[in-house]
Amino acid sequence: MARLLVWLTFLSVGYLFSLSSCQNGLSANGAGQVCDTIDTLPKGPDTLTVHLMAVGDLMAHRWQMERAYNKKDSTFDFSCAFASVKPHFDQSDYLVGNLETTFAGRNKGRAKATFGYSCFPYFNAPEAFGSELKAVGFDLLSTINNHSLDSRVSGLRSTLDWLDSLGIKAVGTASMNDKKGRSAVVDVKGVKLGFYAFTMSLNGFTLPDSLAYSVNMIPKIDAKNMARLRADISELKSQGTDAVVAIVHFGTEYQRKPNKEQRDMVDSLFAYGVDVVLGSHPHILQEMETRIVVREDSVSRQCVAFYSLGNFISCQRWKPTHNLSKDLGVIVDVELQKVDSLTQVNRVTCKPTYTYWHTHCIGVVPVFDALADSLLYSTMNDYDRKRLHFAVDEVPGFLFPKGMKVDTLDNCYLIDMKKQQP
Ligand SMILES: [Zn+2]
Repeated sequence: MARLLVWLTFLSVGYLFSLSSCQNGLSANGAGQVCDTIDTLPKGPDTLTVHLMAVGDLMAHRWQMERAYNKKDSTFDFSCAFASVKPHFDQSDYLVGNLETTFAGRNKGRAKATFGYSCFPYFNAPEAFGSELKAVGFDLLSTINNHSLDSRVSGLRSTLDWLDSLGIKAVGTASMNDKKGRSAVVDVKGVKLGFYAFTMSLNGFTLPDSLAYSVNMIPKIDAKNMARLRADISELKSQGTDAVVAIVHFGTEYQRKPNKEQRDMVDSLFAYGVDVVLGSHPHILQEMETRIVVREDSVSRQCVAFYSLGNFISCQRWKPTHNLSKDLGVIVDVELQKVDSLTQVNRVTCKPTYTYWHTHCIGVVPVFDALADSLLYSTMNDYDRKRLHFAVDEVPGFLFPKGMKVDTLDNCYLIDMKKQQP
């Protein structure tokens, strides 16, 4: 009898626990409001609003390639991987991410272990992975990170050629000796956005001086490097950009907190004229930061930095031995508002994501959708469900520093810049 009572108590506590973590994610503030229905601020005739959406590391590991491989004609199909996130991407005005692989061509990388392609330590993905990124809506990718030279300079160039043929802009690497490869200026719904990308590590690869232009590398924070960074950002601003977005590959892999170098770099970027920092490299989520930045023009601007957006898709998983959530990422939607001549971040939404690993597909699901949509939920196994609930409980702690005012809506976290302390 005593044993039965213990069991009943255990079951009911377990039930209550699962119920509360579920409610936590699905309707925590009881408002029943989803991100996609939030009213924007009253807009005057001179107000423009742009939704810049971003994700972290786009990786292609062996197990993704194996599932995408079609034996019959030796082709690849990655379309199942992003099917559940595409409806969210469709709400962006501009979608960006960090491409942490190369497109050197079959059998043309440093290794060819997987149908002529390869992953760690030398990433070279099937071209179909790039086609899929285009199909789901990526507009711009940063091609600069510690894996940019995994397929040598020839692979760096063929990566740019492939992205160009797909109609995806690339920043951070260059085929020709001009400064254009470091940055891009795009007009998004009447708002001129400048993108600038660099890395602080190249996995020890070095290039002769004659090819140094191929990679935008800032190996350390010193006077010379920072003078160049400042000049590059000034040049971007001189092209009439309304806001500048820096995509930065920095920090230490698998560290939960940003290090001093990351913080110092973000301080400098904000000072030099950057409004949005999208960081990656740690492969797990690190916190974000909102800041009111005042530059030489004495105007206050609301700016935002993400120290690490984590993996968006990869085969890196959570393991009890290291307890690092390499399977969790985020889709961030940075709403930029231009009123008269001032463009600044108005608010940000964050949708946590989870990469599942099934027999036929390795793909990404938005965490809140996967818990709320019974059809999608039914495709998740017990392990997935545990990770989804874990994400609901833990992602706010990974992303939001103490004191940040965050509203939990039905399918996202909302950060209203006006509610934050200066
Ligand atoms: Zn990296």
